[in-house]
Parts: sequence; C-alpha cells; structure tokens
Amino acid sequence: MAELTEKQKIKNEKKRLKNEKTLRKMKKNRWWSGFIGFILFSSIVAVTLVVLIAWMMTFVVESKLVEESNNARLIAQLYSEKTSDNKEMDKMLDALNLQRDYIVLDKNGTQLELKGTDTRNGNNSLNYTTAKLGNVVIYQDIQGQFLRIDEENSVDLDFAGIINNKPLAAGGARYIAQENDLIVPFWMGVEVPNSDKMIFVKSAVDMDEGDVIFMGIVIGIIALILVGGYVIMVINLVRGIANHRRINTMLFTDPVTKNTNWTWFKAKGEQLISSRKGAAYNYAVIDFDFVKYRNFCIAHSVEEGERALKDIFDVISAGLLKNEICAHSANAHFAVLLTYVNEENLDSKIRSILSKLEKLYIEHKLAFHVGVEKKGVKLDDRGKAIRRIDANIEQDYFNACAAAEELSESDDSGISYFDEILIEQQKWIDTVNDNQEAAVKNEEFQVYYQPKYDPKTNKLAGAEALIRWNSPEYGFVSPGKFIPIFEKNGFITEIDHYMITHVARDQKRWLDQGFKCVPVSVNVSRAHFVEDDLAEQIRDMVDREGAPHDLVEIELTESAFFDDKNAMITTINKLKEYGFSVSMDDFGAGYSSLNSLKDMPLDVLKLDAEFFRGDKADGRGEIVVSEAIRLAKKLNMRTVAEGVEDRAQVEFLAQHDCDMIQGYYYAKPMPAVEYEDRMRVGVKDVEAEKAAEAANAASNANAEVQAATN
Ligand code: C2E
Ligand code: MG
Ligand code: MG
Repeated sequence: MAELTEKQKIKNEKKRLKNEKTLRKMKKNRWWSGFIGFILFSSIVAVTLVVLIAWMMTFVVESKLVEESNNARLIAQLYSEKTSDNKEMDKMLDALNLQRDYIVLDKNGTQLELKGTDTRNGNNSLNYTTAKLGNVVIYQDIQGQFLRIDEENSVDLDFAGIINNKPLAAGGARYIAQENDLIVPFWMGVEVPNSDKMIFVKSAVDMDEGDVIFMGIVIGIIALILVGGYVIMVINLVRGIANHRRINTMLFTDPVTKNTNWTWFKAKGEQLISSRKGAAYNYAVIDFDFVKYRNFCIAHSVEEGERALKDIFDVISAGLLKNEICAHSANAHFAVLLTYVNEENLDSKIRSILSKLEKLYIEHKLAFHVGVEKKGVKLDDRGKAIRRIDANIEQDYFNACAAAEELSESDDSGISYFDEILIEQQKWIDTVNDNQEAAVKNEEFQVYYQPKYDPKTNKLAGAEALIRWNSPEYGFVSPGKFIPIFEKNGFITEIDHYMITHVARDQKRWLDQGFKCVPVSVNVSRAHFVEDDLAEQIRDMVDREGAPHDLVEIELTESAFFDDKNAMITTINKLKEYGFSVSMDDFGAGYSSLNSLKDMPLDVLKLDAEFFRGDKADGRGEIVVSEAIRLAKKLNMRTVAEGVEDRAQVEFLAQHDCDMIQGYYYAKPMPAVEYEDRMRVGVKDVEAEKAAEAANAASNANAEVQAATN
C-alpha cells in the first residue's frame, strides 16, 4: 500500500475533511444542546405568557378603571369647589348618583375628612399612572378582592350599589349588577385640584361573565400554545437523544467485532494524541494485519473467520492502558494506538500482543504482519512537551500499513517499522503508475536482445527479449525497477503484449531483410495466465505481424506453475499446437517443483542464474546442474543456462550437453541493431575476441607506462 498518487491524495484529503465535518457536527449535536434549547424555549414562552396575561389584565381592568377614575376626579372637583358645609356637595353627589364614602388626606397623610367608613386595606396600595387614567393611587378593600353577587344580591350591596348607581353613559342603558357577576372593590385616590390634598373614593368595578370567559379563553389559548410547545420540545428532545445514540452506534461500531471501528479510532486517537496531556507521551500507531485471513475463512468458515476477528480484537484490547485504543479498521486489519517509554519498551509491548495473538487457537497458529509508525515526544527550548496540534492519525496509520506491507512476501509473523525509504519507494511506484500509459504510447519501452549460444559450437542459437525503459525524464531504467510494479498493478499484461508484438515485428523485418533468424523468447507474466484465451491472443498478435510461430518462444516463470495447473497445461498445449515453443524460466529459483516438470509439456528448461553464483568448491552445485540437464533431456526438453559469466562454467555446461548458454560470458542484453550484428556473424569467435581484448588492454597499459616515463 504505502503512499498514494496525487489524485488519490486529493481524494483522500477531501474524504478526510468531509469525515471531520461530520464528526464536528456530531460533536456539536450533543443531546444537551437539545435540552438547553428546551429550557430556553420554555423560558421564552413563560415570559410571553406572563406579559400577555399582564397586558390582558391591564387592558380589561384599565378600561373599567377609567370610568371610576373619572368619577373620583368629579368628586375631587366637587370637593375642591365646595364652600364650608358638606350638604351642598352631598346634594350635588345625589344629583349625580355619586354618593360614595370618601376620605380626604393632607400631603402628610393626615386624615382631614371622612365620609362613611374607611375600609381601605392599608397594606395593599398601588400607584398607578397611565395615559388614560392619569395618576391614581389604588387601595384594596378590606372586604376582599372579588365579591360575587349571589341570588339575593345580598353580598355587599354596598359595592353592588356603587355599580348600579353609576351615572348613565351617554345614550346607554343603566347597568345593573347581575347574579354571578364579580365585583372588584377598591378605593381610588386622586389629587384634589388646586390643593396638595388627596381624596380617596370608595369604588368598584364589575366583571360580568363575558369578561371572565374572554379572559379565560385568551389564557387557555396561551396555555395551550405553551403546553403544545412543551410537548413538541420534549418529543424532539427524546428523539434527539435516541438519534444521537443511534448515529453514534452506527458511526462508531464495527459490524464484525461489535466494537469500535476506524471512524471512532480516528476521532478518539486524534483527540488523545493532540491533547495537552497526550503531548507528554510517546505514541505508536500500529497496524496488525491477520495474515491469510481469507485462507482461514476458506479452511474454516466465514462465521469462524469473523469470530476470530472478534477474538483478536478482544486479545488486543485486553492488554491496553487507559490512553491506548484499538479498532477493527478494515477486513483483516486492526488499528492500535500504544504509548511507550522507549523503543525497547514499544517492541516488547508489540511482541507481547503478537505472541498472545499467535497462540489464540491451539489448533491453528495465527500469523500477523505488524506495521509501526512511532510518534515520539517533541520538546521545546524549555524542555516542555510540544502539543501535536497537527496530528494526523490517518497518515500515521497509513504509514504503519505501508510498513506492514513490506512484510507481504512472507506468510510468517513479523514487525516492520516505517521509515522514509518507504516513502521514496512509494514515490517511485506513483511515478511508474502515472507514466506507464504514456511510456507505451511514446514507445519509450525498448526491446533488448540477449543472445543464447550453443556452448559446443559457439553458434548463435537463440535470444531472449528483455524490456528496458528509456525514459526522457528518468533515464535508462532496468526492468527490476518497474516489472514488479506492473505485476502488482496489472499493467504487465499490456507490457507482455507490447513485447510479443515488437519481437514478432522485428523477426518479420529481419526475415524480410535476409537475416538468419533464431527463436527469440519473450517473458509472459503469470498474471496473464488467468486469461483462458491467452494462447489465441499470442497467436493473433504474432500473426498480425506476420512472423512464423517457430521464431517466437514463450517463457513462463516457475512460480506461475503453482496457480491453476490444469489451465496452465491447456494453455501450454494450445501454444505448442500453434507452433510456439514454451520454456520454464528461472528453474531452481525459489520453490522448485519437480512435479511441474512431470506435468507440464514444456520444450525448454532455463536453469536459473543462482546455480552459477558463488563458488562452492564441494561440487554439489555441479552435480545438481548436471543432473537437472540429464533430467530435462530425458523429458525431451532442451536446456538453457542463465547468468553464465565465466569460461569454466561454459566448459562444464558444454561437457554436460547443455544446449544453450545465456550469460555475460557471451553477451549482455543489447539493442536490436547490435543484435543484428550478432545474427550477421552467427558464430562467435570467443577466443579471437578475448585475444583482441587482451591485446587492447596490453597496448593501453604500454601507452600508460610510456606516458609515465616521458
Ligand atoms: P529473466 O527473464 O530471468 O531474465 C534474465 C535476467 O538475467 C535479465 O535481467 C538478464 O539481463 C540477466 N542476466 C543474463 N545473463 C546474466 C549474467 O551473466 N549475469 C548477470 N548478473 N545477469 C544476467 P533483466 O533484463 O534485468 O531482467 C530481469 C527480469 O525482469 C527478467 O528475468 C524477467 O523476469 C523480467 N523481465 C525483463 N523483461 C521482461 C519483459 O519483457 N516481460 C516480463 N514479463 N518480464 C520481463
Ligand atoms: Mg526470462
Ligand atoms: Mg530467468
């Protein structure tokens, strides 16, 4: 895996930002934010209710009070105009139907005059000023706040009288207090004009059933809105809490282990690493990759496989400290965040988890590839730990996975620490990925030919076509640097087509030009062998170029023989039927299987260069080589020895009837034009070439000595 291409990086970054936004939203959307909303809403509604009721009351009461304040002012006016005795005033009041009890006070509150009885409730007075009323002082009456008129009109006829005796409104009928009416008794004080006295007049207003019903309806509607709002808020709050829980579960729970998942790991991990407290810890982000999980599922069952993942999760999380976390991140991968004191401590912590995991099942030893990205504490000038505010756990885990990927060739457990070389390697992989298509289009890939010679006659007997990348940007690149990448990314099939086509084209051209052509072998990747019409594809490609089939040989690597054997045999048979020879490349490298020799109807066996490396004097290598040649012969196969570099080896191989040698002793891979020269000459006079080279070297040395003595 390791690092990504630019496009992928941008895509990932976008994804990361989107995830972060969602997480931020989720964090904001806590259930208590709903609760606060609820409280706020209730308060607003309650205040509105109070204000509305107060306004209602004021409206109703004020409209009633206006009449009474006018009466009080009229009495005050009469009082201010009266001469010495009260009789005159009483007459006027009688005439106006306004005979009321009243009290006159001076500015200090001293009673100057009293008519009737003072029933003011001294504890409950109120200064009241409005545009309609002017400035009045209201006292409650000791007889009560509300008086109801009963059947006999008996309750406090005194107040009922006030109501009944009010002066006639212009053109209106006299109002008579009705049974069930509510009478509100009070005393109303107004200033006596042109004096500093106050006159308090016994007053009353009535509220008939209509008033009460109107107020009841208004209050009821308001209360209904309030209660309705409350109910909606409560429902929303409960729903919000439930939704929050559900989203949390959905977003943060892994369906297999029923525990934490990658999204949670990322959010929690970043919080831990970037917190003020976390700055003081060394952290490692680790990938535990369960090796061959697929095989485990095939051997057991998918259910057992998933149970194993759950068990693995439990083992890892059981040994974690408070600020360490773990999650099932993907398929067979587990993301783990560990703290550590020093590198030995980290290594031993990882090994301890690893050994527990390996021994999880008695009957089946598990293996894990462990990739580690370390994040040590960074100190500032004063020795204080610097907060990792730019922590990016996704990148850390990505690096850990890249490190684990380094172990992918092995089926055994292992630990791999991330380092910068991996990044360089990944950059190169990206470069190859990004340039492969253009390189084919611009014919940047060149076919080099490495001749194969018959060691007995030194005659040119064949060649192998080997690819080279002549990149205007990256220079001359050898296949070891890009073929494995193509094998992984699948572009290898394109390359194989390219090579077969170019070799067939060259062979056809050389035939047309009169060259004495020999078969040229082309490497075909094992990835290609999954296509069941491979033989037909090759045949058609060669036919399109017009080259004879016997001049093209197909090389298969030995490792390819471990795939679908029957499909392989079918393809080999078809290729042979169409007239192509088929060879097994690199025989002896890696896992050799004599079985594949038994089963595959091959024409040529290529002994791997490894046989000719090193110089073990015990002769065992030679025995193996000579016996391999004998075996091939018995199976009617020709033999080619690869990577032969010295004369002794050539002589040995000639002695043991090896048919061809492909190695630096004869020739290195070369461009087509140079190979044409080899075809022209046909036989290579190795001795003469060696003698010429030696003479050349001697004359160069002589010239150097001469130059030095001069
Ligand atoms: P291979 O098919 O086994 O090719 C033989 C490799 O051994 C070539 O390396 C060749 O240059 C090298 N070699 C030959 N004689 C000697 C010698 O005496 N000494 C040393 N040290 N090396 C020698 P090359 O060209 O670097 O290719 C490496 C591998 O890349 C090939 O191994 C083959 O597996 C792959 N490859 C090369 N070209 C192609 C291609 O066109 N298609 C595919 N699928 N794979 C290719
Ligand atoms: Mg080869
Ligand atoms: Mg080889």
